[in-house]
Amino acid sequence: MARCAYCGESAGLMSRMCRDCKSLMARVDELRGRVGYGEFLDGLERTGVAKEKILAFLKADPDGKGSVQDQITAEMTTELMQIMGIAGRQTPQEVKKIRDSVSKDSK
Ligand SMILES: [Zn+2]
Repeated sequence: MARCAYCGESAGLMSRMCRDCKSLMARVDELRGRVGYGEFLDGLERTGVAKEKILAFLKADPDGKGSVQDQITAEMTTELMQIMGIAGRQTPQEVKKIRDSVSKDSK
């Protein structure tokens, strides 16, 4: 049995994601770019997956491209920058850097 690359639970044979994370990923693709972050989280909760698992899923970064949470935050920030007429684009790596520095300051 392989482990899920996102939540670490058993994912079944020949699969890198468990069923819950697969349905979360499908929902992410459905919601991304269409809703704000609060609605986005609500939408994920509506899959019926446990909240702890949703949080683990959002924070996982199995490919090193930034966690789902950072990717979504980067997309939303980029969109906001465009609306405000600011050139440039936020990357998941930037979001992570900002989040790391914020959490370091609060310690
Ligand atoms: Zn999983």
